Amino acid sequence: KTDDRGMVRCFEPGMDAALAARRRLTQDLRTAAAEGDFQLAYQPLHRLADGALVGFKALLRWQHAERGPVPPDAFIPIAEETGLIVPIGAWVLRRACAEASGWPDGLRVAVNLSPVQSRRGADLVALVRDALAVSGLPPDRLELEITEGLLLHDTDAALRTLTELRALGCSIAMDDFGTGHSSLGYLWRFPFDKLKIDRSFVLGMGEDPKAAAIVCSVVALGRALGLIVTAEGVETAEQVASLRDAGCAQGQGFLLGRPAPTAAVAARFALGAVGVPGGVAAAEPAA
Ligand code: C2E
Ligand code: MG
Ligand code: MG
Repeated sequence: KTDDRGMVRCFEPGMDAALAARRRLTQDLRTAAAEGDFQLAYQPLHRLADGALVGFKALLRWQHAERGPVPPDAFIPIAEETGLIVPIGAWVLRRACAEASGWPDGLRVAVNLSPVQSRRGADLVALVRDALAVSGLPPDRLELEITEGLLLHDTDAALRTLTELRALGCSIAMDDFGTGHSSLGYLWRFPFDKLKIDRSFVLGMGEDPKAAAIVCSVVALGRALGLIVTAEGVETAEQVASLRDAGCAQGQGFLLGRPAPTAAVAARFALGAVGVPGGVAAAEPAA
């Protein structure tokens, strides 16, 4: 009945159960959003040339009372469809800025922005300005990661929003580059500071010369455009070596460090273990 108008669909056994489960999950997500009942995990970003830690990416975590941890890929789409990503995304931004304001100077925090956050009329610029003001985080330590979906809908409005966000002093990263629509026109028209190569290409680098060629070309393109190029999903030392040879500036991936809870990040600073020689960190517990 909720399908597109005029569509006739036969009832399949199990469909009602799946629907009910989804409805329950949506309701629980609504409650969690109202209470800010989430956590953030932080995954390190390293400079590949010397292995220095440059910052962390904030990743949303939801610990469901009965189900345990629910992966973001299972609940972010629901949050986007229902519009709940607007309050949830605001919570992520405020929390990430607040936590990052306590990190050693110079370390940046990267936060995902959903296309729906800008499309649903939420005033992203006011939200970011407020999160920075309340936390005291210097704007140049905040990196906002967007995907091509944010640029598709109302291109002029998206361009205005990104320009204003950049005017606040934050930097803008294009995440998951190479998936989705990947129009080169976006790189031309929009004010990006950073390009993050999707992990699917990095994963294929070792086995498929085509994937390696795409990575090398995207790195060259990004550099020619004056962007900081980051590789996502770095899992092997061979990938680090090839990416470094290709001129890729930064990396993020399980080899360099897994997403870890806030407390683990704080402990790391307490130990003074900020720099990681060779760009290869010891494995950290997953969050
Ligand atoms: P993303 O923004 O591209 O984040 C990177 C994802 O790749 C994270 O998954 C991270 O744990 C995973 N990853 C990092 N290194 C590796 C690696 O070496 N190998 C593999 N196989 N995976 C790696 P996670 O935390 O499950 O998040 C998945 C996606 O959920 C994110 O992709 C993002 O699209 C979405 N997401 C997560 N947190 C937020 C949030 O706060 N807001 C919004 N709007 N979306 C979020
Ligand atoms: Mg992302
Ligand atoms: Mg990504």
